[in-house]
Amino acid sequence: MASMYHSTRSSVKECSAKGAVLDGLAPDGGLYVTDELGSARIDLSAVVGGTYRDNARLVLKTLLDDYTDAEMEDCVEAAYASTFSTEAVTPVVKVGNDFVLELFHGPTSAFKDVALQMLPQLMSRAAAQENKRIMILAATSGDTGKAALAGFADTPGCGITVFYPHGKTSEIQRLQMVTQAGGNVAVGAVRGNFDDTQSAVKRIFGDRELAQRLDKRGIMLSSANSINIGRLAPQVVYYFDAYAQLVGNGAIAQGDMVDFCVPTGNFGDVLAGYYALRMGLPIRKLIVASNENNVLTDFLQTGVYDRNRPFHKTISPSMDILISSNLERLLYYMSDGDTALIARLMDDLATTGRYEIDGALLERIQALFCCGYATDDEAREAMKACFVKHGYVLDPHTAVAWHVSQRIPKQDGTARVVLATASPYKFCRDVCAALDLDGEGDDFSCMRVLEAASGRKAPAALCGLENAEERFCDVMEAKDMAAYVEAKCGDLL
Ligand SMILES: *Cc1c(COP(=O)(O)O)cnc(C)c1O
Repeated sequence: MASMYHSTRSSVKECSAKGAVLDGLAPDGGLYVTDELGSARIDLSAVVGGTYRDNARLVLKTLLDDYTDAEMEDCVEAAYASTFSTEAVTPVVKVGNDFVLELFHGPTSAFKDVALQMLPQLMSRAAAQENKRIMILAATSGDTGKAALAGFADTPGCGITVFYPHGKTSEIQRLQMVTQAGGNVAVGAVRGNFDDTQSAVKRIFGDRELAQRLDKRGIMLSSANSINIGRLAPQVVYYFDAYAQLVGNGAIAQGDMVDFCVPTGNFGDVLAGYYALRMGLPIRKLIVASNENNVLTDFLQTGVYDRNRPFHKTISPSMDILISSNLERLLYYMSDGDTALIARLMDDLATTGRYEIDGALLERIQALFCCGYATDDEAREAMKACFVKHGYVLDPHTAVAWHVSQRIPKQDGTARVVLATASPYKFCRDVCAALDLDGEGDDFSCMRVLEAASGRKAPAALCGLENAEERFCDVMEAKDMAAYVEAKCGDLL
């Protein structure tokens, strides 16, 4: 029988995995979880020797078990067969005495591709079953929007409209979005800042008359948020696959423990590691690395989660987050499924910006999770030191994790894997500055400087932006966004 999913805040209403993928967020504001997590273990000897796609099928079928074998095979082929620039999809490389798991070989050179290449496939099949077509709506400050565009481009039954604040993204980020190919994609610049754009998107989601008009046409609006179980599940795969690579190249023996250190923002990436552990992967510690927005470091040390603190703009912008939404799922599992507790904690967070867990629960979490954070200066020093010592270039997000990992005492014989979440070429200017390279000129000349210094080529998709055709030049007021979306629904495949 298929596993049922329900909210972290109540278990009354249940749905299948497909239903959870379509919904994204549960109706009561909680996140979808299943109590079957861990009841089916992944056989390690099946993973070792498997290709990335073999392992993806195995892990995803276990987590999202109402997709048929044929459906999942199609999803995996569409997501990973030709979209990543390396056959390994997420290769592990040795750097000094540690390992780096490179998650950035997808179409947008960041780790969100791994999930956002798969989510549209899962959604498209779930929507077809319900006879619906989906318009994905997103506000972006730069990175996630592009990864979502690349994932949903030309996916049957789906369209995507992305809004970004006009003049507020980097030139590379803007080019990545406005050059996106696909017959079902649209990109609009909005006058105002990111908050204005995001608030307007939330208003569109709340517009009932619009929803009714679209419903008559068989269309529903949806989002590609990182709380969607269809984004979390694909991330569990690379923990198993990384382990398989380590066994495959003799770095560890099957059954040995491994530590993973994860640059963390919304807590999705590191939570996927916890899912892998529950499904049988021998993980000793999961290390949560934060930048100066170190709300998680404090939480893991004291049990108090408090977002009432200054917000820092850092050189690792994808980790500039004060509410780590996916932490809610960890609290659910660690409290043995205490939905009443989770509902109360999240209510505290919404009303006061703060909650506190008891000592027993904190100890259970601490038995598994270590933590630490890096300031911008420490991240820059980590980039420099890693390059000088090992000739390996870290991006600013990965540098945060590298800094933290090097300060946590290593257990003898336990291999340590640092997750690399972005290509350094995506953040060329900051990387060149940290390595004392000449970062003058535009982003493209900066890329060439880094190529020459590192001996490693920049991703073709990033270099190609210099001469790519710009497809979208619409600039609008926030009040005109809803009409723009409604018009774009006409282009749905
Ligand atoms: C999103 C992102 C992160 C943070 O991942 P979470 O799953 O939100 O914790 C880290 N690094 C990069 C480059 C990202 O894009």
